Amino acid sequence: MSRALVAGAGIDGLAAALALHGRGYEVIVFEAVRELRPLGVGINLLPHGTQALHGMGLADALDRTGIRTRAIEYRTRYGHVIASDPRGTEAGFEHPQYSIHRGALQMILHDAVVERIGGGAVRAGMRLDGFSQDASGVRARFVGADGTTVEAQGDLLVGADGFHSRVRRILHPAEGPAHAEGMMMYRGALETTPFGDGRTMFIAGNHDLKFVCYPISEEARRRGRAVVNWVAEIRHDRPRPATEADWADRGERDFIDRFRGFRMPDIDVVSLMESTETVLEYPMIDRDPLGSWGQGRVTLLGDAAHPMYPIGANGASQAVVDAVALGEHLASASTIAEGLAAYEADRLPKTSAVVLANRNAGPEQVLDIADARLTGPDDRVDDLIAPHEVEAVASRYRRIAGFTRRSE
Ligand SMILES: Cc1cc2nc3c(=O)[nH]c(=O)nc-3n(C[C@H](O)[C@H](O)[C@H](O)COP(=O)(O)OP(=O)(O)OC[C@H]3O[C@@H](n4cnc5c(N)ncnc54)[C@H](O)[C@@H]3O)c2cc1C
Repeated sequence: MSRALVAGAGIDGLAAALALHGRGYEVIVFEAVRELRPLGVGINLLPHGTQALHGMGLADALDRTGIRTRAIEYRTRYGHVIASDPRGTEAGFEHPQYSIHRGALQMILHDAVVERIGGGAVRAGMRLDGFSQDASGVRARFVGADGTTVEAQGDLLVGADGFHSRVRRILHPAEGPAHAEGMMMYRGALETTPFGDGRTMFIAGNHDLKFVCYPISEEARRRGRAVVNWVAEIRHDRPRPATEADWADRGERDFIDRFRGFRMPDIDVVSLMESTETVLEYPMIDRDPLGSWGQGRVTLLGDAAHPMYPIGANGASQAVVDAVALGEHLASASTIAEGLAAYEADRLPKTSAVVLANRNAGPEQVLDIADARLTGPDDRVDDLIAPHEVEAVASRYRRIAGFTRRSE
């Protein structure tokens, strides 16, 4: 049996573990942090990501945990709904879109890995430090929390170690710094009364000052409540550099003042932000697409391979699609190096296109079209954007992100 070493037990590393185990690989996942905790706040899984996870037998767990998102509304800062885009099955896709807590999704994947592969499948507190490879296999070196070094031998190594990937740095030592355009994101989640139908998300404002809001807990929804995830995005005069990007709460709350002019009919966004205890801060950063990902028996997945702006809700979705594609290409190739090369040839151009589309506001271009015409709260929606402008933006992004409807 071939052995796969996976660096990183985030969404992607765990999804890769399940995909490779399903293809008959022995899998060991090495995670840098000592204890996996359900960190982060909300993320979205688009139909192509959901399809991958449903294919791994996780539909029931996802349905119990996440919200099946019904629609996404694009709004002006005064609450005009300029576009309402049905999502998932409501939009005719075979699979739903879920809005879900990132940590809860990570724990669903972790539990499935432990149940199917065994308790020893995830080794926490082991940070990948280096690797070497030859015709017979790959040797990876991990450093434990106490500084001890452990080596592991495998047939392939998957770098699923996120934005600051060590595997990527070793493979591409000459790569330049992360790309940033000066936006900061502040994120939180708060249990409160539901807004709208309890299954709709909205994005309001424009490219420089934006508020994103969606419910993420099915358990709360069943109790008549909502765990509302929010993201405030602001063009910042002193954005945090990528080297310090770590999803931490640094106590910054001044940004809330910038949203005092926002008026939503169904939720008070300022009081939502002010009442949230923990606010995670993260700069809007990505990296230029690489010309290649891996070498021989080593490859990259997820944020290690194609970190992208969290616009269009594609980060986690593309990551789990990578995991399934990796399993499929390895299964149909005659050698590991051939399988990894086929995986890369399949996924690199597709994900590079999404990285670049997200820099250009992805599906959220409609906000800027309407914002440029906005004069005040009494404007008529029809004067802000035309239906054909909305559909042109949405269908272009669906094509790039790989979740076209059957008719497209
Ligand atoms: C703590 C945290 C909170 C996040 N919160 C959100 C959120 O609220 N909303 C959102 O949209 N996205 C969030 N993200 C990012 C989101 O998870 C990813 O964009 C997406 O899911 C792709 O996942 P990934 O598995 O490729 O990367 P990640 O989720 O970043 O996972 C990478 C994993 O690799 C581990 N790792 C790093 N270096 C090494 C190493 N050298 N050796 C071994 N392991 C290593 C990390 O500890 C981490 O567990 C968060 C990421 C992290 C790490």
